[in-house]
Amino acid sequence: MSKNGLFARITGGASADHAGSHAPIGKGDLMKRVELLNNFEDLDLGWFWATDPTGALMYLSDSAAKALGKTSEQLVGQQLTSLFIPDKNDDPEKAERPLPFLMSARNSFSELSARISVSGSDAEIWWSVSGKPQISADGKFLGYRGGAKDITSIRERTLDASRLAKFDTLTGLANRHAMEKRLTATLTAFKTAKRSCALMMLDLDRFKQVNDTLGHPAGDELLKQVAQRLKSVVGEKGEIGRLGGDEFQIILPDMDDRGQLGDLAQRLIQMISQPYSLSGSRAIIGTSVGIAIAPYDGLDSEELVSSSDLALYAAKGGGRGQFRFYASDLKDGARLRKQIEEDLRDALQRDELELHYQPLVCSETREAKCFESLMRWNHPERGWISPAEFIPIAEETSIIADIGEWALMRACQDASQWPSTVRVAVNVSAVQFANEEFPAIVERALNASGISPKRLELEITESVFMSDPYATNRMFAQLKDLGVRLALDDFGTGYSSLGYLRDAPFDKLKIDQCFVRGSTAEGNNNSAIITAVVSLAQALGMQTVAEGVESEDELSLVIDHGADLIQGFVFSRAMPHEDVMARFADGNLKFTPVGPAKYRADRKTVFRKIGVIHEDHRYEAVLRNLSATGAMIEGVLNIPRGTNLILDLGEGQLAIGAVRRSDEHSQGVEFEVPLVSDGADGLCTRHRVSPYALAAAGMPLKALPPGNYPLVQNRRADGNPTRPQFVQMDIAAIGRRS
Ligand code: C2E
Ligand code: CA
Ligand code: CA
Repeated sequence: MSKNGLFARITGGASADHAGSHAPIGKGDLMKRVELLNNFEDLDLGWFWATDPTGALMYLSDSAAKALGKTSEQLVGQQLTSLFIPDKNDDPEKAERPLPFLMSARNSFSELSARISVSGSDAEIWWSVSGKPQISADGKFLGYRGGAKDITSIRERTLDASRLAKFDTLTGLANRHAMEKRLTATLTAFKTAKRSCALMMLDLDRFKQVNDTLGHPAGDELLKQVAQRLKSVVGEKGEIGRLGGDEFQIILPDMDDRGQLGDLAQRLIQMISQPYSLSGSRAIIGTSVGIAIAPYDGLDSEELVSSSDLALYAAKGGGRGQFRFYASDLKDGARLRKQIEEDLRDALQRDELELHYQPLVCSETREAKCFESLMRWNHPERGWISPAEFIPIAEETSIIADIGEWALMRACQDASQWPSTVRVAVNVSAVQFANEEFPAIVERALNASGISPKRLELEITESVFMSDPYATNRMFAQLKDLGVRLALDDFGTGYSSLGYLRDAPFDKLKIDQCFVRGSTAEGNNNSAIITAVVSLAQALGMQTVAEGVESEDELSLVIDHGADLIQGFVFSRAMPHEDVMARFADGNLKFTPVGPAKYRADRKTVFRKIGVIHEDHRYEAVLRNLSATGAMIEGVLNIPRGTNLILDLGEGQLAIGAVRRSDEHSQGVEFEVPLVSDGADGLCTRHRVSPYALAAAGMPLKALPPGNYPLVQNRRADGNPTRPQFVQMDIAAIGRRS
């Protein structure tokens, strides 16, 4: 066959000759058919090629050769497969076999995507190639005939589309859909391989305020920066996704150490809470983190996601900027929260809310200068509920507006019965502070009670600085115009920026309890912080209050460091209004300190039933106190010092330890591996009994149930009881004392 033998190009005037002819083209009209094909090639609708039995090119459309930067003459004689670059990213599981393989097997192929090598260029060009083996009448293989077309741009478009389908366009992180797929695939594979996988859920705190006050472009920019920070902390350890809005998720394969996970969560929280610069404005947000770990807290993706959601919910409920591990009692916590939210709506009408008052005592004269009003809720079924529990719920719903206004009215009313030298302090939530009507509400409370504005002190926290600085400054100015005093509450816990202090008109600065607590312990640098805060406040002409002073040694420390006023249990807890009135009636404004002489680092006093496993026997005991390094237990008689025990703390938490102290009824056990923070104020073991191990012992494979480790049941496989070495006490008879 000549080199152009197959579809010999008819050059010259052929097409002109036939122009305008409408005669149908018969099968036998070779010339006309060839001309049609030429037109087809010229229009770049597609190309043709042919090979000989060895795979060498015998023909290639001119325009195809041109696309390769060559002429067809240069290409004829080369192996067809030499035009293609084997794709290193080729997915090995892809259904398609590579072209050389198909050709050597003399298979037909159609629309195979192949990357083309273009001489002198490394541009990525892709063709779709089809081919069919030619067999002669006597069964001889003659070579391939086929077609090709350039699909580079189509391919890019579909790649873009699939990238879009997988990634969040704003942050470039995986999107919800991709994360779901990823998590399902990971958990399915890990179940077989008996591997663990942690899941973190993050929800930004105060993102909405930034979005509302600085605008959506700033909100978008913020999310991008958050994504960057998350990436910098997580690195290669996990996959980060944005589920939408201000919700992020992190999949962390092979992570089940709750110590490490807690550290990671803490680092994420710290990183996210650093200030952001958004086109000239400054914004500060926070984040809460919920953590669940497969297989312990859920085996499949639905179960694990719902556990981590519950943990996130609890983290948010516990105050902002916290992490929390899933525990089975969170399910009850979430239900309780919902119930509180519903009941809180009616609490005002049903007259269940009260204000109690705690004195702020002058450190020189020991006289109460001010009383802080603290809300108390007497729930008809649950009894007293702490404001630390219900105020955050009220803030999330619109209820805070009503109860906040009520508190302001009531506090002013009560104060109108006090000596005119004594002030009243009212806590104001950032939500109330952001309401334009707030100055009018304050004015109404002042007018209704008739108290002088300078006797009313509004306590606000640094979170008010999170919103629009312009509106915040206007609010400050309006309140100062009314003549009320402003106190900055919980100083040091938030995003303390000295900038706020310089510009905002505070009369008083309340040093948060966390700096007072433990300030007397050795090696604690809180006292240095107190000194610094006091001198700063003095320089700015503000009074200082030390909050949460409980013991005598703390009292002398904060007085020595120059605090003007003291608030804390050492002088008085918050008391009902009648009690305040009784003191005024006696003319007794002086308070005397009553408290423990020394602050004691808290070994948490607990009262909880646990299991104690010794050899293959299990005892019941009461946990008396618990610290990271050890526990005091009661309930088993005379366990000698040095005995190795396992404490079953519930929910798969087995703490291995040795008895260090022992008297008849109780033992001090030192843990081999210290416990870690559970994110709330509790402790948990780093590791838990793996559901895989339980399954290997014949239990059904499922997430850890609440309760105790099921494998030591004081009965051997043969049904005979195991033999105890120690005497079990009747633990129901052990009294609750602390
Ligand atoms: P806060 O404004 O920091 O109030 C001080 C809290 O510390 C009070 O807790 C008080 O009882 C407690 N406290 C005082 N001295 C000591 C001490 O020596 N040791 C210890 N351990 N605690 C001490 P309380 O009454 O449970 O209130 C908790 C939080 O609830 C308050 O913190 C405040 O943020 C919020 N809150 C209370 N009442 C209101 C209110 O009427 N409106 C608003 N928006 N928030 C309120
Ligand atoms: Ca306060
Ligand atoms: Ca406070």
